[in-house]
This record gives sequence, C-alpha cells and structure tokens, in this order.
Amino acid sequence: MRRAELVFIPTPAVGHLVSIIEFANLLLGRDDRFSITLLVINPPFAAATFDAYIQSIAASHTRIKCIHLPLVDPPPQELFRSSVEKYVADFIDSHKAHVKEAITSSVLSDSIPLAGLVVDMFCTAMIDVGHELGVPSYVFFTNNAACLGFSLYLLTRHDQVGIEFSESHPESVIPSYINPVPSSVLPSFVFHKQGYISMVNQGRKLKEAKGIIVNTFHELESHAFRSFLDDGIPPVYAVGPLINLKGQTNSEANQAEHDKIRKWLDDQPPSSVVFLCFGSMGSFGAPQLKETALALERSGHRFLWSVRLASPPGNDKIATPSDCQNLEEVLPAGFLERTREIGLICGWAPQVEVLAHKAIGGFVSHCGWNSILESLWHGVPIAAWPIYAEQKINTFQMVRDLGLAVELKLDCRRSDELVVAEEIEKAVKCLMDGESDVRKRVKEMSGKSRKAVVNGGSSFASLGLLIETMLGNDFAQTE
Ligand code: UDP
Repeated sequence: MRRAELVFIPTPAVGHLVSIIEFANLLLGRDDRFSITLLVINPPFAAATFDAYIQSIAASHTRIKCIHLPLVDPPPQELFRSSVEKYVADFIDSHKAHVKEAITSSVLSDSIPLAGLVVDMFCTAMIDVGHELGVPSYVFFTNNAACLGFSLYLLTRHDQVGIEFSESHPESVIPSYINPVPSSVLPSFVFHKQGYISMVNQGRKLKEAKGIIVNTFHELESHAFRSFLDDGIPPVYAVGPLINLKGQTNSEANQAEHDKIRKWLDDQPPSSVVFLCFGSMGSFGAPQLKETALALERSGHRFLWSVRLASPPGNDKIATPSDCQNLEEVLPAGFLERTREIGLICGWAPQVEVLAHKAIGGFVSHCGWNSILESLWHGVPIAAWPIYAEQKINTFQMVRDLGLAVELKLDCRRSDELVVAEEIEKAVKCLMDGESDVRKRVKEMSGKSRKAVVNGGSSFASLGLLIETMLGNDFAQTE
C-alpha cells in the first residue's frame, strides 16, 4: 500500500482551525493511507480556546502528529490596529523558515513520502515552501465558494485598475455572486491600501495551488462554482459541510454551564427558543447589549443568549458574562429578573449542540461561515447580524442571493453602529415565524447538506477526486 503524508498548516484562530481539523478527520477516515503532520503556528495573542483545541487534537488523534513551531515575535500592535490583514500576512510570512525546517527535519526524514501541503487560506505564503521542496500545495479555504470567487475577482480587478475601492464605489458585478454586490457589504479591507494589497497578494498565491479545497457543497453554491470555469483557476474541491458534530473543546468551556444550558433547553417547547451567538470574536459594547435585551424582552420569545461584552479601546480582552462583575449594571434594570423564566444568558456556548436541540427555532448570528453551515445542517434559520471581516458579504449572499436568511442588519458601513431594539425585535419576530419561506428553504437545504457528504453525494465524490490527485503526485521522497 502506497502511504502518504500531508503537512497541514492552519491559521492560528479557532474559526479556521475547526474546519481544517474536520477536513483532516474526514481525509483520515476516508483513506487509511494518509497520515498528517500539523504544524502549529502559535497565536500572536494569548488564546486559551485555540491552545485547548490543539491539546485535544494532540491527545486524541493517533494519525495526526502536532509540531509546535518556534515562537516568533509578532508584528507591532499598531499594524494590527491599522490593518488586521497585513498583520496576519506578515505574521504568517515570518514563519516560513521554521515551516521549511520542520518539514525537512521531521517529515522528509520519515519513511512515509510527503504528498503535499494543505495550507489555510491565510497561510498561502507557505506555497513558496512547497515550491522550494518540490511538493504541491493545496489551499484550504475556510470561507465559502462565493468568497473564493471574490478573492479571485479582486486580483483580476487589481490587474485592470490597480487601486483599492473608494467608499463611493458603485455596485460590483462579481461573478461568484448572483446579484451585483453593493460596496457597503464588501469587507472593510478593500477600502484600505495595506489590507487591500495583502488580500490581492493572497488571491495571486491561490492560483499557484494545485487545488483549492472549500468547506461548502455544490447544491448550496452552484452559481459560484459555475463562475470558476475560467482558465487559470486551479481545480476547486467542495468537500463540506465540515462540522464538528461532537462539539468544541475549549478551556473556557465550563462543563457545569453547558449542562445547565442542556437542561434548560430540555425544558423548553419545540422550536420556541431564539439562540444568539456571534462567533469566536464577536462582542458588543454595553449600549448594544441593552438594545438587544430590550428587543428580546419585547419580542416575547424565549432566548438563549451568548453574551460577550467588548472591552474599552486599548484592551483586547473580550469579557464573558462570568467576567462581568455585575451583568445587571450592563443590561436594562430588572431585565434578568423579568426574563428569568424565558431566557438564559451564557458565555461560550456549545453552539453545534445547541443548534441541534429541538427547542431552538431560530439563530441570530454574525454569519461566520462555520456558523452558517452548522445552522443549515440543523435546519435552523438565521437572522443575519454581521459584525466584521467577510460577514457582511456572507450575509448578502445568504439573504439576497440565496434567500436562506432573514436580514437583521446589512446596510451599515461601520460595524460599531448601534442597531436599535426595534430593528432587532422585528428581525427576531420574522425569524421565529414558523411558516416562513426562509424556514422552508433552510429545511430543504439541510437535507441537501446531509446528502452531500455521504456516499453518492457531491462532496463525497469531490473528496474522492481530490484524494486521487493527492495520491497521484510524485512524492517529494521516494518510498
Ligand atoms: N462557537 C461556539 N460557541 C460560541 C462561539 C462560537 O461553539 O460561543 C463555534 C461555532 O460553533 C463555530 C466557531 O466557533 O464552529 C465560529 O466560527 P465562525 O466561522 O462561525 O465564526 P468566527 O469565529 O470565525 O468569526
């Protein structure tokens, strides 16, 4: 049997790690010729959730070997404030020599030949290491196919126009989206030189990959896939949805709190609870939390709310309810008492498990791609409330292109703009409508997502093609 080693290089952020590890699991489960070395770039900031996740991988996977790369000084904090994209690109780039050294000393010296690198979408700089070692690289794109199309579009546009977008830019016809895309939903980096250039460079590197693996499925994004038929785009493999159905392991996870959530949900009527959760980094200031509380109370619906209070400027820590000395001081007076019977507030939520619970009727989400896939999988409609990064364009796709989500807030340029209680209440009521077309379409898509990953499904077939390509390579080292 011809064995094959793959080197995985994730971006050190939970939202990126979860799906690439699910992909590793999928690959190992599908073909026992593979083994995987995970090169761990240490996060530039303290990240307990990420560290705990890596520890759990190291402890539980016999065919995944974790190698921690040496610590590298992160770029200056000012860069993080001026451009997160450039900060991440520089930080990842500064690990190239360590990646090459780790592969040379710990992987190529092994008896199993190296079949390729699987690099996260923000680690495309490592494709250069692949070139130097004569090994093909596959990009693992943690966002959706339409966003991949956006990255490629940016590159084409840049080669024609050469500069970033202006705030007054009209709608853009981006081939991977069905409708023209207003500039108000584009990620903010397109308006800032540093971030824009970093992302154009990322788009350029994508084209050097031997293949691009996307956590999505054809039935959901058929339009985007049709737009990839142009020359010069590497083969795109849809292998999703990749969902960690066993739930997330992290040090913040307070088992007792999760048990409390489970028990509380068990006591609620079917489809009666709206769940609010905004990803691994979503947080709000006190005024926004107040508006949300007012809206929930006025809507009359039961709720499970993962609350994260944003820290004052200059402090990067995100507080959870347990950090808030007194949540009552942040929320409207008497809110906790009045909603005691119908609401539960928590910190880090066991999101996948919550979405799977029959009591959940709707999800107010920031529209991170993992959250969208998890919610579609469980047939729970979303009210979309994007906060940062690509979330606005994801919302645009879900609401306007696909009709798979209710719009809560889309048309705002600044992510710190206050969303008033009336808007939230209206969206929650619409979301919880048991007969809505959105709910019907989401249920239908839920069935399609589950079919895609089993034998005979589109993602199952696409993974088969990818495996053939990976095993068909001339390995960097002969057996
Ligand atoms: N998540 C969770 N509990 C939380 C917040 C997030 O389990 O309280 C998980 C969620 O299920 C998803 C991931 O963290 O798998 C967040 O990824 P997503 O792409 O939705 O958003 P990001 O964190 O990248 O903004």
